[in-house]
Amino acid sequence: MQSLTSNEVAGLAVGALLLGATIAAPKVDAFIAASQRRSLGMCRKCGDLKSVACGRCKGTGTIKSGGFFGFSDSSNARSVACDNCRAKGCFPCPECSKS
Ligand SMILES: [Zn+2]
Ligand SMILES: [Zn+2]
Repeated sequence: MQSLTSNEVAGLAVGALLLGATIAAPKVDAFIAASQRRSLGMCRKCGDLKSVACGRCKGTGTIKSGGFFGFSDSSNARSVACDNCRAKGCFPCPECSKS
């Protein structure tokens, strides 16, 4: 068996990590993405996009209203402007907007 160079070992480790991230829950994937961003010197929160998606409307700027828990029939459902982000769908990144 050939001995592995440190580069090959590192490559295998990254490959295993990525494979694990693919299989594992998106939470783990997000965690790895965050650590990659940090190591790249990018903003950990937004990845240098300078904005973060609104969690309430999922970045669309509008939320469905009417019915219970979103399970409404289409005749009842209506889209209203998200009052969490003022219909913008995103916020300025709190990390990046720090001066
Ligand atoms: Zn919103
Ligand atoms: Zn940021």
